[in-house]
Amino acid sequence: MTEIMTPLEHHRFQRYSSSDEITGYLRALTAAAGPYARLESLGRSAHGRELWALVCEDSNGRQAHRRKLRVLMVGSQHGASEAAGCEALLHLARAVLLGDLQSLLDDFEFMLIPNANPDGRERDSNRNGNDININRDFVLLSQPESSALDAAVLRYAPDVVLDAHESASLKRDTLGREGYLTDFEAQFDVASNPAIPAPVRIFQETILLPALINAVESSGLRAQRYIREITSTRQLITHGGLTVRKFRNKAGLRGAITVLLETPMEPGSGTYPTFRNIGVRLEKQWCCMQAFLDVLGALQETLVETLAQVSRLTPQIPLPLNASYVVQADSPQVIIALRRRDTFLLEPITFADHRAVQVHDYLPLPGAYAITAHTGVFASLFARHQIPFEILQEPLVRRVEREILEGGHLADAACEVLDTHTQVTSLPVGSLCVPLTQTTGRLLPLLLDPRSQSSVFRYPSFARLIERQQPLFVGRLTDRD
Ligand SMILES: [Zn+2]
Repeated sequence: MTEIMTPLEHHRFQRYSSSDEITGYLRALTAAAGPYARLESLGRSAHGRELWALVCEDSNGRQAHRRKLRVLMVGSQHGASEAAGCEALLHLARAVLLGDLQSLLDDFEFMLIPNANPDGRERDSNRNGNDININRDFVLLSQPESSALDAAVLRYAPDVVLDAHESASLKRDTLGREGYLTDFEAQFDVASNPAIPAPVRIFQETILLPALINAVESSGLRAQRYIREITSTRQLITHGGLTVRKFRNKAGLRGAITVLLETPMEPGSGTYPTFRNIGVRLEKQWCCMQAFLDVLGALQETLVETLAQVSRLTPQIPLPLNASYVVQADSPQVIIALRRRDTFLLEPITFADHRAVQVHDYLPLPGAYAITAHTGVFASLFARHQIPFEILQEPLVRRVEREILEGGHLADAACEVLDTHTQVTSLPVGSLCVPLTQTTGRLLPLLLDPRSQSSVFRYPSFARLIERQQPLFVGRLTDRD
């Protein structure tokens, strides 16, 4: 069999793979791999490019000695600005289907979405064809790419998700102006929204993350828990974002153990043996992905047991709506080395350490939510999230709890709760009734409760639906039938 080259190899690393070339390559791999591979469409991008998932599994293979892990790996949500994740997944696909990693199919089923933002790849951008950052869009799902990724998590029900990113070491308009570059080699974070079941959060933070960091370090790259982008020497240090806006947290709420990978990119102005140093960047991603799969293999039993434990849980009562980063009480400062742009020497900088997490705004879970106005807007939102609801065909008398909100032009201020109003009321015909189920019970309150930082009401398009200082049209049904 002739070796199938990745588009990057074909171009001798002198330019990135284009979205069309990626499609061609995935088709060629699928054809060559026969029954081990399926190429499935997840829909189309804003500019009409196909979004592909490559499913790799050995369904006819010998009896597996243990349950296979279903692993969804997503590359280059941030388009050509973070191209290496995609290139590494193209490499992985070939190694698993035709190369020296075929034995991984004894332990894993892979769903690979290498090119999660094909428009961004073609536009040389981190955004999609509508100029939106799709990794901030998992609450609204306003974009086809974020909707497709969310739907893929539902469709494939992965045990584990990897979301591969890169970060520029030179932030020209921020930290670069202060004369510094960031200096890290590999970072990992995990889904950290507080509504994600405790067994998963504990497994991710105390077992999985340390194992990943260890595995990557032993292969020679420095690794650490993710620190949110450093754009100023005076900023607070935290881990990654905690809301459902991020894919990582949405996938976590959908039930997957979820890992973020980030490797660095050198300044675009430098001279490198390969296009924008993609050769070295690919190596770093590849090293981290291999470590990730090694660790999953080693932790398979604990991981399966953690997920089984969660499937037996009903959503936590009360459910935490929010979490914030706060100062580490025992060590309020952290020293992080940054590289000086002029001398290229490392310099220790002292930052305020706000990596402690405080969970707040606990909500006793209602039996259901009722939406009495703007029902078309919400029906469409629920359809995008695949959240089942019912449209009332006749009035329904129920006890309803509703918040009275400040309202106004600024979304966060509009969500300020002035009071909570409880009353037995008749819900009109046409209202939406949305029951809390095992699968939506953690997500729905986060999306609908204006106190939640993940709420749709934190976006101007929904905040303007709030009537000033009146009971909200979204209510909680708290009585039982
Ligand atoms: Zn990114």
